[in-house]
Amino acid sequence: MPRPVRDLLQQRLTEVRGRIEAAARRSGRAGGEITIVAVTKSVTAATAACLPELGLFDLGENRPQELWKKAAAIPQARWHLIGHLQRNKIERTVPRVALIHSVDSLRLLVALDEFGRRTQPVPILLQFNCSRESSKQGFPPEEADILAEQLPHYPGLNILGLMTMAAWQSNPQDTRPVFAELRQLRERLRQRTGLSLPHLSMGMSHDFEVAVEEGATMVRLGSVLFAGLEATSAES
Ligand SMILES: *Cc1c(COP(=O)(O)O)cnc(C)c1O
Repeated sequence: MPRPVRDLLQQRLTEVRGRIEAAARRSGRAGGEITIVAVTKSVTAATAACLPELGLFDLGENRPQELWKKAAAIPQARWHLIGHLQRNKIERTVPRVALIHSVDSLRLLVALDEFGRRTQPVPILLQFNCSRESSKQGFPPEEADILAEQLPHYPGLNILGLMTMAAWQSNPQDTRPVFAELRQLRERLRQRTGLSLPHLSMGMSHDFEVAVEEGATMVRLGSVLFAGLEATSAES
């Protein structure tokens, strides 16, 4: 990796960690409680490979095939699937990932449970469509109670929390209700299921500070780390 790319990534990472630390303090937490998942979908494996060298091991991809490729190239990372998973890709994807953030339907939940019963419990987050955009995946928040009745019946799953995506807002403060709703959904599901649901995966480059203030434990960051880098890495 050319030195300038590494240095730039190091500099951006330091800056982002500072912003997370400040937002965490505003919510009475420490920055260390929040995991950065670096979303590598816009860069090559060569660029993505810089991050573990800089001490950031949690990497995310939204397409299973791309995740397979990059996970083979960067096996030292912990890989997160953050986009839609088709059931026919479960067998190839689950063994390669530390966490699937994007479990967005009952059909997928059931299929992952079946796989987990044959192997070992699959670590997942439940994706909710809190912004209620038709273009976004996820369970409607209104279905949380129905889902809560199902959740205890999946011994093949290790359900670790919830995930959502906010709609893009020119003022990031306007995303706050979406993140607050996910936190409230977690409370509701905790009470109804007894699961501890430790994780809230919410916040992207444009809105991560608001998400952290509202309780995010994982933020998924792409452009704030990688903007402008691809041309450089393609040349190298
Ligand atoms: C691409 C993507 C991100 C990162 O988006 P940025 O705005 O580049 O930080 C986060 N989450 C999901 C699900 C994504 O697809």
